[in-house]
Amino acid sequence: MKQQLNKNLDEVIWNIEQARIHVNEHHIVKLVAVGKYSDEENIKTLYALGQRAFGENQVQQLEERMHHLEALPLEWHMIGTLQSNKINKLIELRPALFQSLDSLKLALALNQRLAEKNQSMNALLQINSANEASKSGVSSDEALDIYAQIQQECPNINLKGVMSIGALSEDRKVIQNSFESTYKIYESLKQHGAKICSMGMSNDYELAIQCGSNLVRVGSKIFK
Ligand SMILES: *Cc1c(COP(=O)(O)O)cnc(C)c1O
Repeated sequence: MKQQLNKNLDEVIWNIEQARIHVNEHHIVKLVAVGKYSDEENIKTLYALGQRAFGENQVQQLEERMHHLEALPLEWHMIGTLQSNKINKLIELRPALFQSLDSLKLALALNQRLAEKNQSMNALLQINSANEASKSGVSSDEALDIYAQIQQECPNINLKGVMSIGALSEDRKVIQNSFESTYKIYESLKQHGAKICSMGMSNDYELAIQCGSNLVRVGSKIFK
């Protein structure tokens, strides 16, 4: 298994490298390894191979893993939908980045709890740029307004940029359109401090990087 993980990680890093150099030499892309299909042993193995940033899509699993692996200097990302009854738990965990802030309502609730605890949290606004009913996130049309509103009304949330999941499609062009739509929004938000454009998963991270992503969330291609 260790050899397999080593090979997978090398391959993903190599592909990221090719894609980012193609954009330009200074385009740096961060890899967040998504461990949801895997176990703690494999996360430890990846750590030994040099990987530091990991993502989970459930607060419960994030909590267990952060706890069991707390001896390792890992950087944890919450990437899944946050139920409002898990807000306090997430705040306790202090993830490096909450990537899936998906509505103004959630932002207001999160901000209130953060303020009560005198804490802050780094977050990305999730955009549903493919406009799919099955996905959470704000619509592309509303994204700029909601981003500005969160910045004004939620001083305990540090918005760092945007996150999006590519369109669920066999057609590369359709996926590309969804990434380009998110990137456009990210570009307009740069003047408001946006630094992170999180797009791309196992099946589309190279395309996402070509479209300007600077953070990819890769699970199955690494842990398979
Ligand atoms: C599971 C998940 C990923 C990783 O998915 P793969 O296709 O296995 O790479 C990335 N982002 C989010 C939000 C996820 O839930």
